[in-house]
Amino acid sequence: MTKVRHVLGISGGKDSAALAIYMKNHYPDLDIEYYTSDTGKELDDTYKLIENLEIYLGKKIIKIAATDGENEKPFDHFLKVYGGFLPSSNARWCTQKLKIIPFEKFVGDDLVISYVGIRGDEDRDGYISKKSNIQSIFPFRKNIWSEDVIAKVLANANIPILMDLFEVVANDDKAKRYQEILATPLSASYKQSQKLNQLLDLDTKGFNRLVFAYLKSTAYPLASETYFPLVENEDILVKRDIFEILETSGVGVPAYYKEIEFESNGKTGTYARSRSGCFFCFYQQKIEWVWLYEQNPDLFAQAMEYEKDGYTWNQEESLVDLIQPERIKAIKEEYIKRTERKRKPESAYMLDILSEAADEGCASCFI
Ligand code: SF4
Repeated sequence: MTKVRHVLGISGGKDSAALAIYMKNHYPDLDIEYYTSDTGKELDDTYKLIENLEIYLGKKIIKIAATDGENEKPFDHFLKVYGGFLPSSNARWCTQKLKIIPFEKFVGDDLVISYVGIRGDEDRDGYISKKSNIQSIFPFRKNIWSEDVIAKVLANANIPILMDLFEVVANDDKAKRYQEILATPLSASYKQSQKLNQLLDLDTKGFNRLVFAYLKSTAYPLASETYFPLVENEDILVKRDIFEILETSGVGVPAYYKEIEFESNGKTGTYARSRSGCFFCFYQQKIEWVWLYEQNPDLFAQAMEYEKDGYTWNQEESLVDLIQPERIKAIKEEYIKRTERKRKPESAYMLDILSEAADEGCASCFI
């Protein structure tokens, strides 16, 4: 049987860190390789989190290098290659060069299961490799499978195969209903997501066993495993659980998530940074830039130095413009208004509001 590697990428964000802790505690028999691909431009809190995690895991987190050079930070190396052209959400060369390509080199042609920390309260699929030797699994979600696997499994052409495999999920009181759902073809009025949810709601473990059995007939990495413990996983973890895992493990929540109070025009608000990644990341919201300016002025000054030859981190204004007193005041006031409108009574974290925009963006950097 071909050996399958199990890997978990630590982005420096809370969700991947919590996933590493969760996997160690729930699946200690899986020999997971933890890795991180450093851009050289993370906040100190991120490096601290990685150190704390190594202690907790009792294992080295492999540092994947995007470049061979020792004297130059990976981001700076590629910025030169791109002639000073700063990355943006429309031209995200940084993720490609600093995260995805190094990761794909790291795994080579080996069969790989990659665990991804997308939470049960998020509606996105994250990075799915185009390489067929890499299969993503999402342990925090009810649906642990990636979109490509689900599309394959639930394709109408596969209904007879699934019906034949059905004995793996056979469960007396649910069997009839399960078969009915399986046998119903997808159509304009019966979408894949509906069928998936019905199957998962009826019997999550049963569905997972069915998918695992089906994958045996494919080239997916899991076809080479005789046993996969996550098939029995029914956990769904949401944001609150993630903070709890980090706090109770002692690894800790990175300090940049901590809300800090600010005052503007007689009103008070709180701000924080909502995600990991480079300190100058263009996905930051304006209030996060203000946070960086006021809480980490040295890093803000470094971010400003990158803005030259007409390139800026934000499309519509430079960092010099953004820190004009009137502009800072306006950003803060707009943010206070927005949070007053949107803060949900049950939300314990400002992050719930700040991270609305983080739901899009770079899964390799922020999970
Ligand atoms: S954190 Fe932002 S700037 Fe850094 S690599 Fe990721 S997307 Fe690019």
